[in-house]
Order: sequence, then structure tokens, then C-alpha cells
Amino acid sequence: MNFADKVVLVTGASRGIGRAIARQFADHKARVAVHYHQNQAAAKDTRAPMPGGPHVLFQADVASAEAAQHLIHSVVKDMGRIDIVVNNAGIFEPHPIVEVSFENWQDAWKRTLATNLLGPAHVMFWAAQQMKRQGGGRIINISSRGAFRGEPEAPAYGASKAGLNALSQSLAKALAPYNIYVCVVAPGFVETDMAASMLDGPAGEAIRNESPLRRVARPEEVARTVLFLASEGSEFLTGCIVDVNGASYLRT
Ligand code: NAP
Repeated sequence: MNFADKVVLVTGASRGIGRAIARQFADHKARVAVHYHQNQAAAKDTRAPMPGGPHVLFQADVASAEAAQHLIHSVVKDMGRIDIVVNNAGIFEPHPIVEVSFENWQDAWKRTLATNLLGPAHVMFWAAQQMKRQGGGRIINISSRGAFRGEPEAPAYGASKAGLNALSQSLAKALAPYNIYVCVVAPGFVETDMAASMLDGPAGEAIRNESPLRRVARPEEVARTVLFLASEGSEFLTGCIVDVNGASYLRT
């Protein structure tokens, strides 16, 4: 895979899966827009070992429509173009229906949908305008196994990812005439900050044993799938949702 001359925006690249995606794109010659929300120091750590470049840091709260618009405009202004967008930034906030107040319930739904669903929608709106002007592009969205399997502790999370799947497939159809291809990667549990408290807690072993490989995914394994979907020759996969869950949940 060779992404020479490509500019790639990875949202939520300060940590976890986004960091691995940003670094792998740089390893394959892309120039990377390393996006972060609150952790500028961590975003700098992401960038530090990346070869090539220049790779540029961008701050934005993707839950804000204005910030999402500004993010795309800033990437184009500072890096000249935008060829690939990876909507990876996301949050997971437990809000079990029989335990939380109605106020907490509403807050969790608003924050989760704003970050995990509306954020990618707004980023894609502006990225698509730019990619259309450039003659094409690639969008890869990071969803979750929870979209298919249910998220009893965090139903807004499951709904946000199911919505992201449907949004991605709608845009795969809408944008194909402009050579813009849209794919989804749906990981199961991954070794990151987001999953750390569950993986380190009493349920950790049971979670690892959900896969016959008896472990969860490494961020680099998710990143590898993203790069494949963004590479030349994978155009006809547009609209696909690729599971990266170690056979922990198989759907037909
Ligand atoms: P993580 O380690 O918690 O990192 C989350 C990233 O998202 C950080 O870079 C964070 O930025 C950014 N972010 C959070 N809220 C944001 C906002 N409002 N605006 C902009 N950026 C924001 O998460 P991860 O595990 O790498 O997850 C990455 C993606 O994979 C998410 O979409 C997640 O739902 C999905 N996923 C994860 C797992 C898993 O088990 N880890 C499983 C399935 C799917 P700052 O650090 O700068 O604040």
C-alpha cells in the first residue's frame, strides 16, 4: 500500500485506534492531519515517531457542527487537499436504563449522538464537498460490534454506531458517482483507554474469551483494515462493513 501524495485526516488520533491509524498511514507515505480534542500532548506523541510529512496537528470538538466545518477547512488550507478521512473519534459512556436518572439518560444520549453520529455526518458533509472538487476520495468510519450485538449498558452508543453504519451506506450510494468511496470498520473490543476499565476489571477474562483467539484486538489490527479499505483497488468494497472482532460475534 502506498499513500504518497495523499493527505489523510484521522479524527481522534491522540490515542488508541486513531493513533495506530495515523502512524500506519505515515509509514505508508501519507501526510497525516492528526486530529485531537483535549489531549494535545498525546497528539504530539502520536506524531513524534511518524516518518515523512509534514504531519499537522488539528484541534476540534467534533460534536460541534461549526468545529467540524472549521476542521475540514483548516486541513485543506494548511495541507492543500484532503484525500482520505477516517472518522474514528468517539465516546463510550455507560447509562444503564434501570440505574440512571432521566436527566442523566438524556445527557448521555445527547453527548453520544453528537460525538459518534452527528460529528462524522458533519465532517463528511464538508469533506465530500472538497473531495468532489478534487475528483474523488475515501471515507472510512469506525463503528462497533455493539451496533449489531446490543449495548445494554450504553444503548446510545449502540444506536450511534448503528446510525453510523446506515449513514455510511447511504453516503456510499450518494457519493459513488463522484468517485468518493465510503466504508465502515466495526471492531469488537480493542486494547485502548476506552476499553481499559472493562478489560482490566472482573469481566476482562470473559471478554477475552468471547473470541476463540482468547484475546481482544490490538489497535494496529484495526488500523491495517482501515488502510486496506482506503487503498487503491478497494473501490468496489464501497458500502461494506468489515468486522474486526476475532470471531467473537459472527453475523451472516
Ligand atoms: P479512546 O482511546 O478513548 O480515544 C478516543 C479518541 O477520540 C481520542 O483521540 C479523543 O481525543 C477523541 N475524542 C473523544 N471525544 C471527542 C470529541 N468530542 N471531539 C473530537 N475528538 C474526540 O478510543 P478508542 O478505543 O481508540 O476508540 C476509537 C474508535 O473506535 C471510537 O469510535 C470507538 O467507538 C471505536 N471502537 C472502540 C472499541 C474499543 O474496544 N476500544 C471497540 C469498538 C469500536 P482526546 O484524547 O484529544 O480528547
